Amino acid sequence: MAIAGTKVAIIGGSIAGCATAQALIRAGRNVSVFERTPASLSDRGAGIVVPLPLRDQLIEAGYLPTDYAHCVMGERWWQHHDGSAGGRRLWTQPSAGVTNNWSMLWRALRSGVTDDVYHGGVALREFSDQGEFVSVTLSDGTTRHFDALIGADGYRSAIRAKLHPEARAVPAGYVLWRGNYAESELVDRCLLDEADRTSAWLTLTFPGGHGVLYMIPDFEGKGRRVNWAIYSRPPQALGGDGVTSVPPGGVSAEVYQTLEHLLADHFPPRIAALVQHSARRNVSIQPIYDGMIDSYGQNRVALVGDAGTMTRPHTGSGATKALQDVLALEDCIAGHTDWPAALADYDTRRAAANNTLVELGRRIGRAQVEETPDWAAMTPTDFADWTQATLDGTSLYFYEKA
Ligand SMILES: Cc1cc2nc3c(=O)[nH]c(=O)nc-3n(C[C@H](O)[C@H](O)[C@H](O)COP(=O)(O)OP(=O)(O)OC[C@H]3O[C@@H](n4cnc5c(N)ncnc54)[C@H](O)[C@@H]3O)c2cc1C
Repeated sequence: MAIAGTKVAIIGGSIAGCATAQALIRAGRNVSVFERTPASLSDRGAGIVVPLPLRDQLIEAGYLPTDYAHCVMGERWWQHHDGSAGGRRLWTQPSAGVTNNWSMLWRALRSGVTDDVYHGGVALREFSDQGEFVSVTLSDGTTRHFDALIGADGYRSAIRAKLHPEARAVPAGYVLWRGNYAESELVDRCLLDEADRTSAWLTLTFPGGHGVLYMIPDFEGKGRRVNWAIYSRPPQALGGDGVTSVPPGGVSAEVYQTLEHLLADHFPPRIAALVQHSARRNVSIQPIYDGMIDSYGQNRVALVGDAGTMTRPHTGSGATKALQDVLALEDCIAGHTDWPAALADYDTRRAAANNTLVELGRRIGRAQVEETPDWAAMTPTDFADWTQATLDGTSLYFYEKA
């Protein structure tokens, strides 16, 4: 028999919050989502990658529509600047996954949550687990009682902070430059056409970092966008501390010079041009953080998505982890008769697995940004061995064959 108590509050209406709401609504729960942002979230992110089986599972389970737009990854080209137009291919790595447009993913998940359930512009102020119920105080001035509270409130989660006051967001000490634009804007498609033949995505290696470039669906699901991201040491002009986030429109000419130098020194001209196609006003800088916690659920309160652990983006798991959390939570709720037992089960399933992912993100960051090898000297065999050493017995979906 499933859990009797049915009133659930979900804090945060982004990827994790909307997916959790869909799961609980389908399970017959009385759900309320509280998202502090009044407007649509659809202009937030860019490209996100998920495993193909997860996408199929989400479609089959009804989270995503059958015509949900995505692009397929087939292999990964590790390129290095050798003075030629496109650079030298160091390694062709099998790579499986599907790329998504953040906005399209959010919109698809949000469309499964009706407006009477989703309360935009309402923030969590305070909560207290009273044993038999959870008391939740909101920015609309109300205090309400729920059978359970799900924290889907992202990487600065107030719910995590209360459950785990010791938990810290740990800066990695490096940043991610990002941009994307419609593929139709490009004149020189030479490299993309070549990559398309094998659904390849690019990794451009340089001392102290690397860049990635892959296609994502366009905002309406018609056509594609070129999505790029470059991991590197923080620009000195930003203070060099690697903790300052700069949204599109905020990158000054002085800060942007760091990217220009990076492209000029280490990127083959054809790949540099694909990055430089993004106007400075459309480029953003994101500091990289991560963080672990030792528990995902306590009594009547649970965490999903970035509100739990935070992984570095190298693991391609921001949305993946959130969606896997939700699927596990759905399963645990169906398999138990009370919330504390369901959430204890959920904690067992997710905390260790997600902390392992955080550790993997740290190893990848060390190998591919903080302590980069002499890339140009590496043979394909060296790359394969180096990758296995980084994985250290774990697996990562986009390091595998499709
Ligand atoms: C602006 C932005 C851009 C991103 N871009 C990318 C990207 O391009 N690629 C990628 O892989 N990942 C990206 N991510 C991360 C990715 O979305 C997440 O890793 C993943 O999808 C898990 O999402 P989440 O729902 O757990 O957290 P989030 O997407 O961070 O959502 C948390 C939500 O909780 C809300 N919230 C926070 N506190 C409260 C409160 N007190 N009361 C009510 N609501 C609250 C926030 O407004 C937010 O909507 C981005 C995240 C953000 C926030």
